[in-house]
Amino acid sequence: MSDQTFFIETWGCQMNDLDTQRLSGNLKLRGWTRVDDESEASLILLNTCSIRDKAEQKVFSRLGELRELKSRNDVRIGVAGCVAQQEGDRILKRAPWVDFVMGPGNVGHLDEVLEGKRVATDFPEDRRYDYLTMDRPSATKAQVTIIEGCNKNCTFCIVPTTRGREVSRPFDDVVAEVRAAIDSGRVEIELLGQTVNAYRCPITGRDFGALLSAVAEVPGVLRLRFMTSHPAEVNDSMIAAMRDHRNISRYLHLPVQSGSSRVLRRMKRLYSREKYLEVMARIREAIPEIHFSTDIIVGFPGETEEDFQETISLIEEVGYGSLFAFKYSPRPGTPSLKIGEPVDDAIASDRLTRIFEAHERIKRERLDSYRGKVLPVLYDGPSRNDPSMMTGRTDDNWVVNFSGDPAIPLGSLIGVRIDHAQHHTLRGEAVT
Ligand code: SF4
Repeated sequence: MSDQTFFIETWGCQMNDLDTQRLSGNLKLRGWTRVDDESEASLILLNTCSIRDKAEQKVFSRLGELRELKSRNDVRIGVAGCVAQQEGDRILKRAPWVDFVMGPGNVGHLDEVLEGKRVATDFPEDRRYDYLTMDRPSATKAQVTIIEGCNKNCTFCIVPTTRGREVSRPFDDVVAEVRAAIDSGRVEIELLGQTVNAYRCPITGRDFGALLSAVAEVPGVLRLRFMTSHPAEVNDSMIAAMRDHRNISRYLHLPVQSGSSRVLRRMKRLYSREKYLEVMARIREAIPEIHFSTDIIVGFPGETEEDFQETISLIEEVGYGSLFAFKYSPRPGTPSLKIGEPVDDAIASDRLTRIFEAHERIKRERLDSYRGKVLPVLYDGPSRNDPSMMTGRTDDNWVVNFSGDPAIPLGSLIGVRIDHAQHHTLRGEAVT
């Protein structure tokens, strides 16, 4: 075993995926080699997520497995990500075979833990961000962080604790990273942030809409996407940028969490049902073909059947093409624990089922509406389930599996005639 080999396991959201790309790129720059088998590594990093229930238990159970490996091999073990931030040195006390913990604020400071710092869970003023060392896994797509942390304080969420206050990157740095990604052959850019549309350039004050326009206008950007927007941060400049640039995806994920203003207040979401619907209407007026998607939490403490019915009616009113719904799960350290009566688990499960049933019909109608149409699809490789088929996404973010000439270069925009709508995806045939 080489003494400079590393293995990274990544859990959770796209921000964690991106942190892994940064950690991996940084290590490779220092001469380390990434391996797929943990038993061959001299450094093991677990990049953890704390968003779901029992996250800490899962990390400790994984660390239990690695303990045995540590007793056999000379390996250093580090815990990164949100569980590291939340638990800090408690991880070292409970699992003393762990060598270091580092939170998301310290991804740019990996050198300090490699040199022996054992607990790195602060939020350094100087957030180092070296995009030139990113280890991007896709040949066609580059994810680009534009803002880290979150200044909202939704009562169910641990992110403001684990990722700290918002820090936006300078506008020109972001554009330079996009240009470098395009120069390296990527054609699709995804801008990332926990509240991506809260972006403000720390030097010039330019907002998210201005950044969207500047990135969309970089020559070679065939498609521009972004995640995750907050409804209270949608403004005219963002909507105008989307309307005016055809290479900006016609897909907008705008988490609503509940259709009841009473629940939204308790969640501290900073908008009411009416305000949210007004935002959706403004976007739809500017971009009628938009594909909306959302996140919903059912069973938030104190949620009544009446509140829940408002969520169902909102889903129908908006007509979301995609929807991600979860049962509320109490996260340690969040205010929602003290906010109201817990909802019985069987009731919450039943509400979750009813959400999916209500959404199924809407999704089906949307998917069926594409039949017979020719859509531009950004080709990104063979289909995972059937390698004889090619796969890609439409500009409103539906996955399309299609037959065609696999010699077409990855990253090409291909016209695909849709002949079939499956459960979550479309099927068709390349026609150009
Ligand atoms: S906006 Fe709310 S849910 Fe989203 S990261 Fe911030 S606190 Fe969490």
